[in-house]
Amino acid sequence: MKFDFSPIRKIIKPDKSILLTSHSNPDGDAIGSVLALYHFFTQSGYQVKALVPNQFPDFLRWMPGCKDIIIFEKNKELGKKLLNGSDIIFSLDYNSPDRMGEAGKSLAKSKATKILIDHHINPDIYNFDFCYSNINTSSTSELVYLLIKEIGPVQINSSISECIFTGIVTDTGSFSYNCNFEQTFSIVSELIQQGIDITKINRLIYATNTESRLRLLGYSLSEKLKLYPGFNTAIICLSKEELKKYNHQIGDTEGLVNYALSIKGIRFAAFFSEKDEKIRMSFRSVGDFSVNEFARLHFEGGGHRNAAGGDSYLSMEKTIDKFEKLLFDYKDPLTK
Ligand code: MN
Repeated sequence: MKFDFSPIRKIIKPDKSILLTSHSNPDGDAIGSVLALYHFFTQSGYQVKALVPNQFPDFLRWMPGCKDIIIFEKNKELGKKLLNGSDIIFSLDYNSPDRMGEAGKSLAKSKATKILIDHHINPDIYNFDFCYSNINTSSTSELVYLLIKEIGPVQINSSISECIFTGIVTDTGSFSYNCNFEQTFSIVSELIQQGIDITKINRLIYATNTESRLRLLGYSLSEKLKLYPGFNTAIICLSKEELKKYNHQIGDTEGLVNYALSIKGIRFAAFFSEKDEKIRMSFRSVGDFSVNEFARLHFEGGGHRNAAGGDSYLSMEKTIDKFEKLLFDYKDPLTK
């Protein structure tokens, strides 16, 4: 699928204020796509601001331009003003205003021209004026790269390239899923021509463990991993107290669910963490089992077929109970 980004070129004018936004709990692709466009518009001489709902993890803090990102949770007045007052809003790496949390209410009401660029299924097309959504792409950053290349004329420089690469490498688990596309690799090859240093970026992103994060990982795997062999399912659950004991920081449990999924024969993995008044849930699967559907139907969430998230407002114990009961309903797709 090839998008025609020329309508965007027509809308964007130097006298228009542009706001770039991402989903809550921004990940590498959210921040990568926001910052790549931020550099692009800044260098093109446009008025541009970047706003994300809440703090992003420490392992992205090296990214060029990340200090300019406004965090809605820390500065709601400014955030609301930008959402209400900007002429053009880009919604990057999410498919519906809800995914912005509280900030999404202002987004839904805003009179701005709204442009969605995303790769999650079921985009909420009625809330956007332009919808560039493609699930067959590694990342939103990949789509942003195509947009920048098409609308030009700014050259793709090293800052833009590093941001795009970060989005692609993090959203594909270092090229292990969501990347069976020629285009993804031809873009990476172009980024290398721009001079990105993949070894350096990988160290910046992945060689960032703290001692407490590694100990939390060890504890989770040795004490908290639970298998349901009859359902090819594995889960890890961490309570508020356990997270506190290991001095949990944002991003520390990122990727934990993938360890459960890496067990031979496991098709469905889940990670539950207790946060404030809810249980935050991550779901992963291999093959046809749709965790997007599972999360959407039972845990007020969604995402991709093989990677999704959700929330439970029950206690941890009751959430696990509900999850275990649901497994019986899915025994067939999980085992046959
Ligand atoms: Mn993404």
